[in-house]
Amino acid sequence: MRIEKMKRSIIALIITILIVPTTVSAHTVTGGGESSGYILIPHDANKNPYFYWMPGTDQFWKDRLTNANNYMYSETSNNLKFINSTIASTENYIEGTSAPASTWVARVVSSNNESHKLRWRMQFNGAKKDNYSTAQWSRIAQHEMGHVFGLGDLKSSSNAAKLMYGFAGNYSGVTPADLVGLKKVWGF
Ligand SMILES: [Zn+2]
Repeated sequence: MRIEKMKRSIIALIITILIVPTTVSAHTVTGGGESSGYILIPHDANKNPYFYWMPGTDQFWKDRLTNANNYMYSETSNNLKFINSTIASTENYIEGTSAPASTWVARVVSSNNESHKLRWRMQFNGAKKDNYSTAQWSRIAQHEMGHVFGLGDLKSSSNAAKLMYGFAGNYSGVTPADLVGLKKVWGF
């Protein structure tokens, strides 16, 4: 059971496809790394970014994002949260989709300029829905929010308990190391 679960988790990689530009600018935040327990990637320029639900997205994903948003807000001392916009031109989109042939369960893809995400899209893979419990999905959504806020996937098993662990995910939320990374970017 345990091995089966682990196998599922590994197969169902929570991948973030982000080619991180290494250009240095005045706004580039540096530091972090696997040994620090957090990795920095380009972040949304806004501490409270707007997003738009792609039409047709299942209520299940909307509820997961709502939970994730509540977790993130309280676990960052009421600093980081998403704001739901009804205006499509926000350029940040969230959607439920179905990609049975893919290994990812949820991901954020983005267009970046130096250390900022210019626009991003968060996707939940409905084909993997049964692999996780409802509660786990809420934390997976929070992990994806972590990407928007500038944290990359951790790969080392020593980081398996962190929110940003890229394989199984930490279902208990933001850990002290995740928080150090978020504070590095946002300064709260
Ligand atoms: Zn990830």
